[in-house]
Amino acid sequence: MTTDSPTFRRSHGFLPTEMTGLDTLTGLALDLRWSWNHAADALWQQLDAELWDRTHNPWVVLQTASREALQQRLADPAFRAQMAALLAQQQCAAAEPKWFQSQHPAAALTCVAYFSMEFMLSEALPIYVGGLGNVAGDQLKSASDLGVPVVAVGLLYQQGYFRQEIDRQGAQQALFPYNDPGQLPITPLRLASGEWLRLKIALSGFPVWLRTWQVRVGGVMLYLLDSNDAANLPVHRGLTAELYGGGMELRIQQEIILGIGGWQLLKALGIKPEVCHLNEGHAAFVVLERARTLMQETGLAFAAALAVARPGNLFTTHTAVAAGFDHFSPALMSQFLGDYARQELKIDFETLMALGRQSPTNPAESFNMAFLAIRGGGAVNGVSRLHGAVSRQLFGALFPRWPTDEVPVGHVTNGVHMPSWDAEAADALWTAACGKDRWRGGLDALAAHIGQVPDEALWQLRTSCRQDLVAYTRARLARQFTVSGQPPALVDIASKVFDENTLTIGFARRFVAYKRPNLLLHDPERFIRLLTNRAQPVQLVLAGKAPPFDEAGKALIQQWMQFIAQHNLYQHVVFLSDYDLLLAEHLVQGVDVWLNTPRRPWEACGTSGMKVLVNGGLNLSELDGWWAEAYAPEVGWALGDGQEHGDDPAQDAAEADALYTLLETQVGPEFYQRDARGIPVRWVERMRQSMATLTPQFSANRTVREYTENYYLPAATRYAQRAANKGAAGAAIVQQRQHIGDEWDKLAFGEVQTEAVANGYLFRVPVRLGALTPDQVLVELYANGLGGAAALRIPLVPDAASSAEGRYQYQALVTTTRPAGDFTARLLPTYEGLAVPLEDDRILWQR
Ligand SMILES: *Cc1c(COP(=O)(O)O)cnc(C)c1O
Repeated sequence: MTTDSPTFRRSHGFLPTEMTGLDTLTGLALDLRWSWNHAADALWQQLDAELWDRTHNPWVVLQTASREALQQRLADPAFRAQMAALLAQQQCAAAEPKWFQSQHPAAALTCVAYFSMEFMLSEALPIYVGGLGNVAGDQLKSASDLGVPVVAVGLLYQQGYFRQEIDRQGAQQALFPYNDPGQLPITPLRLASGEWLRLKIALSGFPVWLRTWQVRVGGVMLYLLDSNDAANLPVHRGLTAELYGGGMELRIQQEIILGIGGWQLLKALGIKPEVCHLNEGHAAFVVLERARTLMQETGLAFAAALAVARPGNLFTTHTAVAAGFDHFSPALMSQFLGDYARQELKIDFETLMALGRQSPTNPAESFNMAFLAIRGGGAVNGVSRLHGAVSRQLFGALFPRWPTDEVPVGHVTNGVHMPSWDAEAADALWTAACGKDRWRGGLDALAAHIGQVPDEALWQLRTSCRQDLVAYTRARLARQFTVSGQPPALVDIASKVFDENTLTIGFARRFVAYKRPNLLLHDPERFIRLLTNRAQPVQLVLAGKAPPFDEAGKALIQQWMQFIAQHNLYQHVVFLSDYDLLLAEHLVQGVDVWLNTPRRPWEACGTSGMKVLVNGGLNLSELDGWWAEAYAPEVGWALGDGQEHGDDPAQDAAEADALYTLLETQVGPEFYQRDARGIPVRWVERMRQSMATLTPQFSANRTVREYTENYYLPAATRYAQRAANKGAAGAAIVQQRQHIGDEWDKLAFGEVQTEAVANGYLFRVPVRLGALTPDQVLVELYANGLGGAAALRIPLVPDAASSAEGRYQYQALVTTTRPAGDFTARLLPTYEGLAVPLEDDRILWQR
C-alpha cells in the first residue's frame, strides 16, 4: 500500500520509543487481524490482564500498561519469543500469495476502493450501528484473507452510535461516550515532513479541514476521515461526531465528506482504483468527484467523464423499501452542491439534480442518493436473491417501459467472516476437520469434511458453547442490574439465571416494528407455558437497540422488560443491554436456535443468523432475506408462507401461532429426544447439515469471491477500455447517445406479418430507422416467460439494404408452440461495450 512508502510516516502517540521490541508490539496492536486471529491474546493479557479483559483492545493495553510492566515483559525471553513468533506469522501472512494472486494472476484489477458509512470490525473501533457495517467489516476481513486488492474509506465518528443502558423501569437510555482517537487502534496519516495529512473541502462556501487516519485490517487498509480539526468553525468540528444522528443537513455534509472527501483522500495518497464499490447510496457523491478528476486529467466535459467512470462504479443497495433511501431537498442540494456543480463540474444545478430524480425535470422532486448511484454506476446489486427481485421493483420507475425482470439489478448474497464469529471450540473442531486455511481459498471440500464429524463431537461443541453463554449471561446481567441500581436481591438472581442444559434461543437485532421483536409475546400465557414446560423448558436471550427517536421501538423493549418482571421469568428470559459486536459474538456462539421474525420482504438480507452456522446453531426464521434462499427442511425451520402480507395484524397473529406450534412440536421435542449416549440424534443431524451446506455458502469468503469474479474484474476491464486514450470512448458515447436521441422520435414499426411454417412462424417486421443504421439498434421479438421461466428474446435480422427513408425489413424464423400473438417486436439502442438499459434506458415497443 502507498502508506508503506517512505512518503508517509506513522506516529504512535504517547508511547516511549526507546524500548526495543516496542515497535513489534505496536505493529501487532495496530493490525486489526487480532479481531479474528486470537494467537496474540495471551500477550496482551500478560501486559494487563484486567484491562485486556475489559477492553479487548490491544492498543489501549499497550498504551496503558505501566512502563515497568512493559520493560519487564520485554526483558523476558519467553515473552520475546512469543512476540517474535507472532511477528513472523504477521509477515508471513502478508507475503504469501493468496487466492486472488493464484486465481487471477494477470488481472487488470489493481485496486477496489470500498466506500461505506460504517464499518464493524471490532468493538474497539465503534464506528458502526449494525447490519450495513457488519457487511462492510466482514468483507474487508475476507478480502484480506483472499488477497483481493481492496482499500476502504469511511468516517471516524467521535461518538458514533449511541450506547444503550436499560434503566430500572425497563426504559432504554442513550449514552454517548467519547471515542478518543488516541485510544483507538488507528494512526493519523502524515506527510513526509511529519505534519498531519489534512484535506480541505468546501461546505456551503466555507473551507472545512478533514483529518485523515488509517486502520490496518490484515492486508487491507481502511482510511477514515473526520472534521474535528482545530482549524474548523465549531459548526464543522462536530460534523462527524454521530453516526446517523441529526437531520438531513448533517447527513448531506457527512455524505459529501465520505464521497468527495474520500475520493480526494485516495488521490492524496496516490491510490488510483479502477473500481469504486459503493456500499449503499450514502457514498454516491464519489461518482461526481471521480468524474471531476477525469475532467481535470483529460479535458473531457462532465457527461463524457461520467461515461468513462461509470463502468468502474459498483452500487450495492441494501434497502428494501422506497422510504429507506436518503434523499435531499433541492434547497439543501443547492446550498451544499450548487457551487460545486457550476464551478467544479461545469454543469448547471438542474443537470446535477436530474441525476438524482426519477423525473429529471420535475423541480419539486428531491435528490435520491440511490438514483445517483445508479446513474453513475456500471452495475447494481441487491444483497440476497429475494432482495435483488425487490430492488428491481423499487428501481423499476427509472427504467420506464422495461419489464421488471430486465431492470438491471443483480444480486450477491451477503456472507459473514467465519473466523470472526466462530467460538474457540468451533475453531478447534473445524480446524481438525478442514484444516487451518479453510477460509482462505475455495470452499468446495468443506461440506464433505464437516459431514464426517461424529455426533459426539458436534454435541460436545454445542454443550460447551451453551455453557459459556450461560456464564457470560449471568455475569453480564448481574453487572447490568448493578449499574441500573436494581436491588441486591435481583442482582443475586441475575447471577444465577438460566440453565446449562436448557434449549437456548437467541433473538438480537434492532428493535423496530418490521422485525416484530415482540411476536413471541402475542399470546403470553402460551409463551409462558412453553418456557416453563418441565419436560422441555426453553430459555430466551434478547438484545437490541431501538433507534433513539423511535418511541415505538423503545416501547417494544419496555414491553419485554415488563413481561419478564411481571411474570417473574428471570430464569427463562434475559434482555442484555447494549447489543454490539462483542455481545453478538457471545450470543451467536452460544445459542442453540437463532430466531428471526421480520415482515417479508423488509429484511434485505440479514446476517446475524449466518453467524450461528459455524458454531452449530440452527436458524428458525421468516422466509425472508438470506433465509428465503438458504432454507431447506433438513437445515432448520421456516416461518411464513413465502408471500408478502404487509403489516396485516391477522398475518402477525397467524405467524405467532405457527411459531409457538413449531417450538412446541418440533424444536423442543427434537432437542430433548436423546439416545442411549444422551445425544439428540435428529438435532445433531440438523446441525451437521446446516454446518456442511450453509456455512460455506453464507461465508463472506464466498461473497467476496463472487464480487471479485462477477463484478470487480469485469468492471476493471471495462473501465480500462473507456479510460484508454484519455477517455476517448466517453465522448463517443455522449455523441452517439445524442445522435440516437435526435432520431428517436422518428423510429417506428410498420405492420408485422406472421406466416405459419412448420413448428413455428416466420416474422417479418418493417422498421423505420431514420438516419440510424442497423448496427446502432437491436430489434428483437419478446415474449413473457411461462411458468416462471425467463422471457424470450429473439434477435431479428435486417435485410442487407434499406429502402427509402431508412426503412428496413427485419425477420426471424421462430420455432415455438406458442401463439404468434405472444411475441412483440421491440427496439433498443446498442453500443459497443455499453450496458443497456443501465446506461441508456430507451426502448420502443411495436405495441
Ligand atoms: C450481525 C449484527 C447485526 C446485523 O444483524 P441482522 O441480521 O441484520 O439483524 C447487527 N448488529 C450487530 C451488533 C451484529 O453483530
